[in-house]
Amino acid sequence: MTKTSVHWFRHGLRLHDNPALLESVKDCEKFYAIFIHDGETAGTEVSGYNRMQFLTESLCDLDEQLRAVGGQLFVFKGKPTAVIKMLHAEIGITRLTFEQDCEAIWNKRDNQVRSQCKELGIEIVEKIAHTLWDPFEIIDCNGGQPPLTYEMFVQVSAVLGPPERPVPDVKWDDVIFGEISDELAMKLQLCPHIPTPAELGWNRECDEQSAYIGGETAALAHLQKRLKIEENAFRDCYILPNQVNPDILGEPMSMSAALRFGCLSVRKFYWNIQDIYFELHKEIKPPFHSLTAQLIWREFFYCMSANNEAYNRMKGNPICIDIPWRKDDEHLKAWTEGRTGYPFIDACMRQLRKEGWIHHVCRTAVACFLTRGDLWISWEDGLHVFLKYLIDADWSVCAGNWMWVSSSAFERQLDCSTCICPVNYGKRIEPTGDYIRRYVPELASLPQDYIFEPWLAPKSVQEAYKCIIGQDYPERIVIHAEASKANRKMMESIREKMAVKPPHCCPSNVKETRVFLRLPEACYHNVL
Ligand code: FAD
Ligand code: MG
Repeated sequence: MTKTSVHWFRHGLRLHDNPALLESVKDCEKFYAIFIHDGETAGTEVSGYNRMQFLTESLCDLDEQLRAVGGQLFVFKGKPTAVIKMLHAEIGITRLTFEQDCEAIWNKRDNQVRSQCKELGIEIVEKIAHTLWDPFEIIDCNGGQPPLTYEMFVQVSAVLGPPERPVPDVKWDDVIFGEISDELAMKLQLCPHIPTPAELGWNRECDEQSAYIGGETAALAHLQKRLKIEENAFRDCYILPNQVNPDILGEPMSMSAALRFGCLSVRKFYWNIQDIYFELHKEIKPPFHSLTAQLIWREFFYCMSANNEAYNRMKGNPICIDIPWRKDDEHLKAWTEGRTGYPFIDACMRQLRKEGWIHHVCRTAVACFLTRGDLWISWEDGLHVFLKYLIDADWSVCAGNWMWVSSSAFERQLDCSTCICPVNYGKRIEPTGDYIRRYVPELASLPQDYIFEPWLAPKSVQEAYKCIIGQDYPERIVIHAEASKANRKMMESIREKMAVKPPHCCPSNVKETRVFLRLPEACYHNVL
């Protein structure tokens, strides 16, 4: 026992299935758990209030759990290299452990820390647990390039075999926690408690109220409810219940923010679902990855970004096609604030800003509307808004999805103005209009006939229900039938001019497009 270990939490904000943490407490004299607010880590550079709140709750939960076993979470503000240097000087840290942050944006931070630790003689232990496979291993296995379609990804990951199972929990009884005296705390500029979003400079912009509580404890409790839904689906002989029956009005059932911050281990989620299935249907083998196909999408996008610092941009990004998008600040603002005049789109955007989370079908609807569908505004602008407001915002998963839905609009498969029509899409997903009534209250009293298309309401109806279009609720900022027709023409001409199609992030096939956009069977022919 000669080591003083520090485990640096960044993402991976959990105690379960945490291989780097497990390594950290091994053979060690003193153990410290830390988090560093550097203005970037855990996606804090572009963050709205809800995500900061989620992060704060996650840190508080870690702190409480550690206090229950005799330790605590030490939170610092500053540059990681500066904090680690001070910890080396003051507490003699000999080992630094952390979970791999595989996205290219963290390379600079982590390379600086790695080289500083080398200089100071601090051993580094870095473990992969944020993803099911090591993205760099997938890239190697694919001949040095990330697979550009989901189908290719599935093939490559199959070669590597099933993901590892979760590691055991830490035995806290055997751990000796290091302490920091008051005097040293001053010197190290240790935060006296976990800073609140307000203390870090974040205030509510509108009426933000997240539907999800951050932290491992909440995530694990939530997981049990979620697994029950998967189990019931397996019993009824179907899979992926969230895709088969998108319920945009129901209780929040997503694990995405917990997975983003690592409050829930993706390997635990993956294996829990697999095990439930095989317990019920021992003999029937489903196609590889089909039970947890959504989690493979997450891997796919992480992998694509791992070596690509330009991944969140169009220019200089080798996997993204250049499209001459329009700059239109007014339209962008109307879209962001949920004032496009299309009730379903506005409901989605208002839910996003208020609650920090919207269903996949809502994300695809608003992403299509902003880009190839209606406004012809760059996916980069949409990405920026999503990164700010989503509590599960992921640099790579978010940009990947935006590219898939928009930049790869170049794909003929996505050329369908009727499928993703802002009116019909919403009607198909939630025909009662209650979703619109919940998030766009000024339309709530309108009769059902007009809730998706209030501009069709005669003046007398608008007056009777006190909802004058252009006054109480905006006029449509574009006419979908016209805009989508013009956009499709534009796509066609780009396609024609491009003699050789450059390799880029795109759908694997028509069926995948239909599943991804949750389009019914009837739309199958339309997307051809
Ligand atoms: P489920 O269907 O239950 O899936 C389980 C988990 O699989 C999710 O929690 C998520 O981690 C992962 N997953 C599911 N779908 C996808 C997908 N298409 N791509 C990658 N991972 C997926 N998801 C994020 O986690 N972060 C983002 O920043 C993000 N941005 C998006 C932006 C756009 C434009 C679109 C169209 C989708 C985006 N998604 C993002 C993917 C997806 O919409 C969410 O993961 C999903 O809605 C989360 O809900 P769920 O947990 O109920 O999903
Ligand atoms: Mg989920």
